[in-house]
Amino acid sequence: LSDPDLWQLDAVDVGTAWPMPGPHDNKYTQGVTGIAAGSATYPGAAVLATGSAVLATSGMVRYAGPAADLVRTKWPEVIATGSVTDAGRVQAWVVGPGIGTGQEGRDVLRHVLSEGVPVCADADATTLIARYPDVLDARDPGTPLVLTPHAGEFERLTGAAPDDDRVGAVKAAARRFDAVVLLKGNTTLIAAPDGRVLANVARGSWLATAGSGDVLSGLVGSLLASGLDPWLAAGAAAYVHSRAADLAARGVPASATGVETSIPAAIRQLRRLG
Ligand code: AMP
Ligand code: MG
Repeated sequence: LSDPDLWQLDAVDVGTAWPMPGPHDNKYTQGVTGIAAGSATYPGAAVLATGSAVLATSGMVRYAGPAADLVRTKWPEVIATGSVTDAGRVQAWVVGPGIGTGQEGRDVLRHVLSEGVPVCADADATTLIARYPDVLDARDPGTPLVLTPHAGEFERLTGAAPDDDRVGAVKAAARRFDAVVLLKGNTTLIAAPDGRVLANVARGSWLATAGSGDVLSGLVGSLLASGLDPWLAAGAAAYVHSRAADLAARGVPASATGVETSIPAAIRQLRRLG
C-alpha cells in the first residue's frame, strides 16, 4: 500500500484512542450501546453484534429486536427488549445486521436515525438506505453516521461497484452521504466526509467467514457510544477486529464467534502512550 494520502493506525494510536475504563469512569462515561439487529431468520447476527459491543468495553449494551430471548440467554448483562421504541436511551446505535430489507426494517432504521445519537448502519441497513433513500431524512444533520458496507452492499448503496478506484469510490460515498463510509475488504478503507481516508490492512484473511461483519459493527457502535470521533471509531474498530482475527486464527481457522472471543485479548495488546 503506497498511496501517501492514506492514513493508517498503529497499536499506539488505537491504544490511545480506546476508551479503557479508569478509576473515575462509570457505565455512562464508557457508553451505552444500542443494538438493533437480528430477525427470526437471522437471530445469530443479533448475538454476534451484541456480544461484540459487550466485549469492546461498552458501559452497557441494550438490545432491541426479535432475538431478545436468545440475546438474554447468551449475554445476561444485556438489557434486551423486543422493539426499538421500548429500548430506552442509548449513546449510539448499531442498526442492520440480519434485520431484513423490508418495511419493518425501514421503520427500525428510521427510528434509530431520529434519536439524535451516532449510528453505525451495517448490512441490511445499507440496503434499506439504497431502497428507501428518504429514510435518511430522519437524521439530524451533523449527527454522526457510519456506513459499513461490504463490496456488494456498497454497490447497492452507491449504484457502482468499487472495483477500479476503491479510494475514489469510498471518498465520493462519504461526501454524498455526509457520513463515514467503511468499505470492507482485505484492505478496508474508511473515508470521512472531509476527504480523509484511512486504510486498515489485514494480515490474514480469517475474517472471510460468515458473521465477522456483525462483530465489526458491535465494535464500531461501542466506540461511537463512548464519544469517539466517528472516523477514528471506525478505524480503531477495524484495527481491533483484524487483531482479534489474528489471535483467533492461531493454529485453527477462525469463526466469527472465535474472533469475537478474542476481542479482549486484542484490546489488551494495544499499546498506550505514557
Ligand atoms: P461481512 O461481509 O459484513 O461479514 O464483513 C466481513 C468482514 O471481514 C469485514 O470486516 C471485512 O473487511 C473482513 N474480510 C472479509 N474478507 C476478508 C479477507 N479476505 N481478508 C481480510 N479481511 C476480510
Ligand atoms: Mg455484513
